[in-house]
Amino acid sequence: MAFYVTTPIYYVNAAPHLGHAYTTIAADVMARHHRQRGEAVFFLTGTDEHGEPVADAARAAGVSPQQLADENAQRFKALAPQIEASNDFFIRTTDAPHMAKVQEVLSRVRDNGFVYEGTFEGWYCPRCADFKAENEIDEGNRCPIHHIELTRESEQNYFFKLSAFQEQLLELYERRDDFVSPRSRYNEALSFIRSGLRDVPLTRHRLTWGVPVPWDSEHVFYVWFDALLNYYTALSYAPQPSGAALAGARAGAGAPAQALDLTQEFWPANYHLIAKDILRFHAVYWPALLMAAEIELPHHLFVHGYLLMQGEKMSKSLGNVLDPFAVIERFGADALRFYLLREVPFGQDGSVSTASFEQRYESELANELGNLASRTTAMVVRYRGGSLPAGDVDGELARDFAGLVQRVCAHVDAAELTAALDEIWQRVRRLNRYVEQQAPWRLAQAEDGAARLDLVLRTLAEGLRSVAVLLWPYMPASAERVLDALGAPDSALDGAELGAGSVEQVRQLEPLFPKAG
Ligand SMILES: [Zn+2]
Repeated sequence: MAFYVTTPIYYVNAAPHLGHAYTTIAADVMARHHRQRGEAVFFLTGTDEHGEPVADAARAAGVSPQQLADENAQRFKALAPQIEASNDFFIRTTDAPHMAKVQEVLSRVRDNGFVYEGTFEGWYCPRCADFKAENEIDEGNRCPIHHIELTRESEQNYFFKLSAFQEQLLELYERRDDFVSPRSRYNEALSFIRSGLRDVPLTRHRLTWGVPVPWDSEHVFYVWFDALLNYYTALSYAPQPSGAALAGARAGAGAPAQALDLTQEFWPANYHLIAKDILRFHAVYWPALLMAAEIELPHHLFVHGYLLMQGEKMSKSLGNVLDPFAVIERFGADALRFYLLREVPFGQDGSVSTASFEQRYESELANELGNLASRTTAMVVRYRGGSLPAGDVDGELARDFAGLVQRVCAHVDAAELTAALDEIWQRVRRLNRYVEQQAPWRLAQAEDGAARLDLVLRTLAEGLRSVAVLLWPYMPASAERVLDALGAPDSALDGAELGAGSVEQVRQLEPLFPKAG
């Protein structure tokens, strides 16, 4: 089994912000989850570096476009480890092998008869690097996204015959109703296709900052086609993924060191994660381009919503803007990862704020998970010297955990990352209720409580192990600390079932999520 997940490549003109972190974190959760299932995983992110906006910004800064791209790409490359993203490769569209592969694929599109020369005239937004259709222009010929005045441009171009794919795209959407999700985005893409597809420029004339068109040196490829192809080109020159990000003993041993072409193993992609502002390029242009190049289509495109920051009440430690870097510095990356996927149902728009972050941190991370981990390990140490005798787990808890792993897998398979997390979190709460109901501190006082206390402590430790394995994709560092304290570092999913593992030696765990103070 192989699993391939991508984020969009991020445009180097912007600085990394919460939106970039959000998509990358979500893709990372999927990648880690599939590694836990023992699958070969490839997780790709990177930067989009060509196009007029980069050339313009470089000119304004008095540097070359390549210098500007080099500088800004580093900021995105640095983001990944800060948010604990385990991407297997970081693609830059200025990578020479990417550019060569773009030329190869788009030449094939031309050889197949889907490229022609013509004159394009239209309203163009330099910030979008895109021409606007008549029905998407705001009053005063303004860009609906950037609100700047559009320019009327006319140029001699090579066109991609998008209109030739109208029927095939309709068939695709008919045949595969999970090609785009959530459903509202599928409908949006489908209605765009039904409204009638027009051919689109494939190249830009007289721009130089882009991938040169091999059959006409006065043109470079339109930045969107260059960018979209990253998902495919990366596999042709990225090194074999090591799988080393899986905690514990199962981490991929003996991966070959030399670069192999990964296309055979990982294409087509299982999931492209995107935000809704780039839906049309991914849901319409991208499959059409692949059809034109005779390349297999990706399985799924998942469109997540926006994180809205409204003027809500602010927290005292974080101010009023949810800055991912400030959160990480003060509370750690795990807390940010948990919060973003817990607070806003993945796939929908939702509000985030520093106040709601702090509330979840205290009530769920510190009081629920953190407390469960602290008191479970503390009680095993206090009442049993850290050693647990082998045996069964409590049947009552086993029933409440039955089918959990399968349900989490089913949710993650559908990119329902918030629903999967909620399944796990209900068991964190169940374990806390179990502590209250069983009151181990009373069993420890009772004359005939020893056997029962063994059962309760074993069930708690095993339950904590089970939820920690399942939480590992969401909160890798915290989950690893828990598993380490339980002496059970293996995070493979086939051992996640309650009762499937055995906890024998337990160490007291320091607070996972200290109170902010
Ligand atoms: Zn614009």
